[in-house]
Amino acid sequence: MSSFDYSICRSELQKYQNEQPQLEPLIGLNQRILDIQESVRASLGPAPAVSAWGMDNLNAETSALGDKVPAIPGDVFRQAAAKMATAFSDTAGVAFPLERILNLPQLQGDDVSSIAANLMENELDLEALAEGSGYNAETIAFFLHNLLVPFYEHAAESYFPVFINREVPWTKGVCPFCGSPARYGVIHDEKGYRKLYCGLCRSQWPYPRHKCPVCENPERVEIRQMTLGDDKAHMAEVCDTCKSYLKTTDERKLQRESVPAAEDIITANIDMAATKEGYSRAA
Ligand SMILES: [Zn+2]
Ligand SMILES: [Zn+2]
Repeated sequence: MSSFDYSICRSELQKYQNEQPQLEPLIGLNQRILDIQESVRASLGPAPAVSAWGMDNLNAETSALGDKVPAIPGDVFRQAAAKMATAFSDTAGVAFPLERILNLPQLQGDDVSSIAANLMENELDLEALAEGSGYNAETIAFFLHNLLVPFYEHAAESYFPVFINREVPWTKGVCPFCGSPARYGVIHDEKGYRKLYCGLCRSQWPYPRHKCPVCENPERVEIRQMTLGDDKAHMAEVCDTCKSYLKTTDERKLQRESVPAAEDIITANIDMAATKEGYSRAA
């Protein structure tokens, strides 16, 4: 695996949409988000090389990025925000509060990376941004998160082989590049190995099969698989110790390679089921 393949992700989503036409509005919006992310990623040019300080952090069992955030050129971010706001407005039929977001002090100037730090640290008043707009705070967070992805992805890309090939000893449930909680899990290979996926920088890394990535409790008895209906390939792996869940695809049951970014989008019903049972997701 080298860089994230947007075209494979799009065709996976198309395949699911053909099978499950009711997913159309959700998939349609996410296809447009992917288009915007791909053009931002392309505009940023070649990924920066793996750095000595990044490797030093990893060898000290800290995520490569440490407490830094990637550079985020203000003009690129603002243009992408305008395009993404149009996609949200078209999908919902309600104008997205773009002006309010673009007026944030963090989004002025040549580099707007402080927006990323503020979002991660829950320092943005998302309720105020959403108020009276017809969108809720979660959707505003989803919007900003999706805008940040290509900048993190660009910064992380050179590390992808380092992680997946175990060139550094990383045993944590959080992302080895950016430190975010795992967004999705994949069980692969006949032996049922597991890897985790970061929804912010798109890194993937191996992780023990029977261990909760949130509380890192190694007791396999505590991890339970929750599936819906006849679909045994997609599940929530729930931990009764910390009440978290991680959505997961078992590629042995799917009978093909999966794209976690696409799997995450088409399994919103699993999020609802797990949330209803009192579990929450870390990312
Ligand atoms: Zn990450
Ligand atoms: Zn747990």
